[in-house]
Amino acid sequence: MEKIIIVGAGLSGATIARMFADGGDTVTVIDKRDTIGGNVYDYVDKNGIRVQVYGPHIFHTDYEDVFEFLSRFTEWNEYEHRVLANVKGTLVPVPFNLKSLFDLYPKDKAERIKERLIAEIGEGNKVSIMQLVQNENKEIREFAQFVYNNIFYLYTKKQWGFSPSQLGKEIMNRVPVYISYEDRYFTDKYQFMPKQGFTEMVSNILRHPRIQLKLGKDAKKIISLYDGKIYLNGKEFEGTLIYTGCVDELFDYKYGVLPYRSLKFKFKTIKKESFQPAAVVNYTTSKKYTRITEFSKFTCEQTDKTDIVKEYSKRFKKGKNIPYYPIPIEKNHIHHKKYADEAKNYSNLYLLGRLAQYKYINMDDAVKNAMDLYRKLKGD
Ligand SMILES: Cc1cc2nc3c(=O)[nH]c(=O)nc-3n(C[C@H](O)[C@H](O)[C@H](O)COP(=O)(O)OP(=O)(O)OC[C@H]3O[C@@H](n4cnc5c(N)ncnc54)[C@H](O)[C@@H]3O)c2cc1C
Repeated sequence: MEKIIIVGAGLSGATIARMFADGGDTVTVIDKRDTIGGNVYDYVDKNGIRVQVYGPHIFHTDYEDVFEFLSRFTEWNEYEHRVLANVKGTLVPVPFNLKSLFDLYPKDKAERIKERLIAEIGEGNKVSIMQLVQNENKEIREFAQFVYNNIFYLYTKKQWGFSPSQLGKEIMNRVPVYISYEDRYFTDKYQFMPKQGFTEMVSNILRHPRIQLKLGKDAKKIISLYDGKIYLNGKEFEGTLIYTGCVDELFDYKYGVLPYRSLKFKFKTIKKESFQPAAVVNYTTSKKYTRITEFSKFTCEQTDKTDIVKEYSKRFKKGKNIPYYPIPIEKNHIHHKKYADEAKNYSNLYLLGRLAQYKYINMDDAVKNAMDLYRKLKGD
């Protein structure tokens, strides 16, 4: 008789499965896909290049325990992510920094704005674009408006289907301007890519005699919930169910479908060694796609061909495409809370991960949250 069932073999599900297994429990992990890793799934294609099927993923964290945990299952390649934005044909670093300023403004004006920014914000600091837009100094306000229009506005509309002002502060405040020449996309202590890829890392996490993995199985076909009780294949299930899929689907959409953004990826092989000067180039003033990723830039593979993917953000349509990003606006959080409250009626059900918790989380948070839930369940 199964005692612990984990739905989802993404990073959230795999991490908590391993924690249970290491602690002596036997667990069953079910995923409806035929692959492991959820959205971090990657593979080496016919060109010998590791391709990330669900979009570019870069590992970065400040959590010591997360880095320690994952390092048991992979060796790492050092990789610091740098992103460029194509602003009307000029490639500039993002997050916007002082180099971006000089790339886009005439030298004299750039010097003046730089001095003002340093005087107002302090050299080496970062500031959110929304704060800058409201700055008392007219020249800084004009500069901030320029950055907002050319780096942020169209990109945000393409990405979320909303203009920035319609989005929650949570997202708006995430967009910094660096008053320095810092051009790394992330500033975390640990920034790496797994040497043999994410799939291999997750495979190693799941490789344990007390973990039974069932792929290609939709949990919704065997699990149902009714009146505070969980049923497995029609029989009451008194064990622990950890669910990392969409919570609205789990409850048969009784409060309606939660809104998400979906993505469409167009992969292409280009017959040259290099396509663009950075792994990721964002298109902030033109094009229907949001960004182009060139995978060989993550691994520094030298081949005579290169693989790229163009990424288009789409409205999520249930049953038609994949839910990727929960849309962080207040009314959606209220909507999700109805499901989260409903889940509390089931004492042996735990929601975990980006879909069940309806929250954008990075990979390190997925691992961290899984570790925290395990510790909570064990009373640590
Ligand atoms: C485009 C994109 C880029 C990203 N880039 C980064 C990045 O650079 N760095 C970073 O740290 N994070 C990044 N992230 C976030 C990262 O993908 C997530 O933090 C992480 O994948 C979350 O893992 P998870 O296990 O919670 O969810 P998922 O990876 O979505 O796994 C959930 C699993 O549950 C399965 N499932 C769902 N319903 C059922 C069901 N009914 N039955 C059986 N199985 C089911 C799914 O098939 C899936 O495998 C990115 C996310 C996206 C969308």
